[in-house]
Amino acid sequence: MALIVHKYGGTSMGSPERIRNVAKRVAKWARAGHQMVVVPSAMSGETNRLLGLAKELAPSKSSAAYNRELDMLAATGEQASSALLAIALQAEGMESVSYAGWQVPIKTNSAFTKARIESIDDDRVRADLAAGKVVVITGFQGVDEEANITTLGRGGSDTSAVAVAAAMKAAECLIYTDVDGVYTTDPRVVPEARRLQTVSFEEMLEMASLGSKVLQIRSVEFAGKYKVPLRVLSSFTPWDIDINEEAKSGTLITFEEDEKMEQAVVSGIAFNRDEAKVSVLGVPDKPGIAYHILGAVADANIEVDVIIQNLSKDGKTDFSFTVHRGEYARTVELLNTKVLPSLGAAEVVGDTKICKVSIVGIGMRSHVGVASKMFRSLSEEGINIQMISTSEIKTSVVIDEKYMELAVRALHKAFDLDQPVS
Ligand code: ASP
Ligand code: MG
Repeated sequence: MALIVHKYGGTSMGSPERIRNVAKRVAKWARAGHQMVVVPSAMSGETNRLLGLAKELAPSKSSAAYNRELDMLAATGEQASSALLAIALQAEGMESVSYAGWQVPIKTNSAFTKARIESIDDDRVRADLAAGKVVVITGFQGVDEEANITTLGRGGSDTSAVAVAAAMKAAECLIYTDVDGVYTTDPRVVPEARRLQTVSFEEMLEMASLGSKVLQIRSVEFAGKYKVPLRVLSSFTPWDIDINEEAKSGTLITFEEDEKMEQAVVSGIAFNRDEAKVSVLGVPDKPGIAYHILGAVADANIEVDVIIQNLSKDGKTDFSFTVHRGEYARTVELLNTKVLPSLGAAEVVGDTKICKVSIVGIGMRSHVGVASKMFRSLSEEGINIQMISTSEIKTSVVIDEKYMELAVRALHKAFDLDQPVS
C-alpha cells in the first residue's frame, strides 16, 4: 500500500464516458490498497473556450486586474472536472471528495496566469485519505496571500500533480495522457519512433524546453528538485488492465544516471518551429556589444535562445540570435529604433522560416564525436546549418524550416533510435 498521485489530462477527462473510465481506473487502484489523490485537468477544450470568451470581451488587454479575472475564469474548468470526477467515483462505490486549490490550500504567489506554487498544506487531504476517501484536487490552480485564485500557466495541471506528490511524499506520480509515454521523437514525423522505457530527468527537462509537449516544463523542474518519481502513461488502455502491468507501462522519469549507462548515447531528437532568427550586421567589434544588443532585448522582456557572434573582419562583426516567432517583429523594430542608432551597426536582417533541431542524451557527456556525427548526417542530406548551440547533454542546430522533417528523420536513423535498446 502506498500513496499514489494520478494526473489526468484534458482529453482523458473529455466526456462523461471518459470521466467514468478514469473513475473506474482510480477505483481499481484504491481497491488494490493504495491511498489515491487524483489531479485532473479541465475537460478538453474548456480552458480555450473560457479564455476565448474573455478575449471576445477584451481582445488584447493585459493588466494585473485583467489577468486576475482570467484566472478566476479559467480555474472553473478544473473545478467542474474535479467535481464530476468525485461524483463518478462515488457512483463507482468509492468515498470521494474534491477540493479546489484554495480549499487545500495550494498557496502560490500573485503572478496571475503564471503563478508559482509556494506551499501546500496537506492536513485536510491526509485526514480524508486516512478516512478511506479518494481525494480529487483541481489541477492548474492555487490561491495567493490575498485569497485571489491564481493559475499556473497553460498545461499547469502537470505541475499541480507533481507538487502535490512532492508535498505528500507520494510513492509515485502517474501522469495519464493521450500518448503512451515519451518517444525518441514525434511519431508523426518519424513513424519508427520508439517509446522510451526510461528517460532521465535532465533529458526530460531538455526535451520539454526544446518543444516536446508531453509535460509542462515547470512540472519537470519540480520533479527534479524534489525527486518525485514520475511516470507518463496512456489513459486509453482499458481501465481494467492488470494493475501490475499498468504500473510498469509508459515512460519512467529516472534520477539514476547509472541506469542509463548501457543505453544509447542519444535518447531523443527534439525540434521546434517556434523561433525566428535575427542578425545585426556590421557591428563594431568592441567590448560591450553583446550587452548593448541583448541587454536592450532583455529589457523589453524578450527571451533569447541560440546566440552566435561571428569572427570579426576589419573591426566589424555580425551578431545573430533567435527569439520566439511571436516576438520577431517587436525585436526587429526595437533593434532598428533603439539599438542600431547608438551602436553604429549597419543593418538588421532576419528570417522566420527556421527551425531548431536538437539531439539530447546524457550519454553525450561521456562520448566524443556525437556532435560531429550529427553534422555529418546533416551534411549528407545537403542541409545547411545556420547556427549551433550546445550544452553538456544536447546539441541544437538552426536550419531552414523546410528541411526540418528530413533532418529529424536522418538524425533519428543516424543515432539508431529506431533500433530496440539492448
Ligand atoms: N486546463 C489547463 C490548460 O488547458 C491546465 C492543464 O490542462 O494542464 O492549460
Ligand atoms: Mg497537458
